[in-house]
Amino acid sequence: MFKIYNTLTRSVEEFKPINPPNVGMYSCGPTVYDFQHIGHMRRYVGDDILIRVLKYNGFKLHHVMNITDVGHLVSDSDTGEDKMEKGAKKFGMSVWDIAKKFEEQFKNSCKALNINLPTGTNLMHATDYIPEQIALVKKLEEKGYTYKTEDGIYFNTSKFPDYFKLSRQDPEELKKGARVEFIEGKKNISDFALWKLSPKGESRQMEWESPWGVGFPGWHIECSAMSMKALGNHFDIHTGGIDHINIHHTNEIAQSEAATDKVPFSKFWVHHNFLIVNGEKMSKSLNNFYTVQDMINKGYDPLALRYLYLQTHYRQEMNFTWESLSGAQSAYKKLINDTKNWDLPKVGCAEFEERFLNAVNDDLNMSKALAIMWELIKSDYPSSAKSQTLRRFDLVLGLEIFAERKIEIIPQNILDFVSEREGFRKVGDFRASDEMRKKIRDLGYDIQDTKEGPVVTKI
Ligand SMILES: [Zn+2]
Repeated sequence: MFKIYNTLTRSVEEFKPINPPNVGMYSCGPTVYDFQHIGHMRRYVGDDILIRVLKYNGFKLHHVMNITDVGHLVSDSDTGEDKMEKGAKKFGMSVWDIAKKFEEQFKNSCKALNINLPTGTNLMHATDYIPEQIALVKKLEEKGYTYKTEDGIYFNTSKFPDYFKLSRQDPEELKKGARVEFIEGKKNISDFALWKLSPKGESRQMEWESPWGVGFPGWHIECSAMSMKALGNHFDIHTGGIDHINIHHTNEIAQSEAATDKVPFSKFWVHHNFLIVNGEKMSKSLNNFYTVQDMINKGYDPLALRYLYLQTHYRQEMNFTWESLSGAQSAYKKLINDTKNWDLPKVGCAEFEERFLNAVNDDLNMSKALAIMWELIKSDYPSSAKSQTLRRFDLVLGLEIFAERKIEIIPQNILDFVSEREGFRKVGDFRASDEMRKKIRDLGYDIQDTKEGPVVTKI
């Protein structure tokens, strides 16, 4: 029996899907305006483990993730700069190219960490679902949940009595704190934008026509519109980082349940804790901001980082240090070495398989699962039996223990050259583009231009 902590009920519950054995799961994905760092990636490994454990238990997954490629504002309170436009300025590219560049970087990091991302229409780009978002706002408007201000359409949270059911915040405390910047015309401090109008006299790189005027969707509406499009208005699991609880997921619940009257919007809410570096928040200004590519450049195997993530429970804060990563790399190398000459798999070790299943089913206790794995490796069972059982374990761990693996990750500098070349191609400067291709070739990589964009391979 698989048990998982549900933020909605604040308890570890038995997982029972709405329509067994099918499970609908929505993950809030990255906003692709800058590099995804190892803190972000911890969360996606966490989701990957959750999916693998569900499959291990025989459930059939329909997993969907969004890519936020449309601008939303830096602050949660609908003020401040637009993240995508900010990224575009910073890197001197268009918002559309920024989105492409950092989606690619995210996908490369996932590949390196052996994360199985949704593919095809299950990886949903916010800009592909603008009509669905507008339709949802219209529905809320028709049902009387919205009002208009100078700068957009807002959700009136006082009309939704269960607004604080996920965050369990005290509205009075919230008012006292008043850390949320107040926007002119907003009726309640927790009200949030569903549709923002483009500022008068200012043209944005991303904006769309709507019944309320030219503008762009509020951040939260995309996740409601896309999750319901893919999974229906009532599904099993919604995941994100703990920073999503108070605002993003709270707003998703309000606008989805208000629109459909179907409660709950998602049955389970799973939230992953943060990663800090040497006891401090990771940030560029503290010079402790690392990507998966940085780890590879320093000679670490990305799967050693995956191993390191597994050592801390997903609901606990994880403190990253280089010593801990070196420790994980040694353990990971030992794991590969200790098992490489084992006999071919035969009947497995039932006792260990049962204990492992109990550990992962207990709210994803992965550090215990790793301890059981090492106990198995050191045990006196014949290696053929251990080999069979360890292969089963690796379906969940995803450490590629028996895989013939060569790491083929395209370095960031090559990816930068590729997007620079795309820029030349777009303006028809084919001489510069050919020169760039040659430069990339000299560095050992080849580009093929396809309908979906350039594909880079190692020569
Ligand atoms: Zn979301």
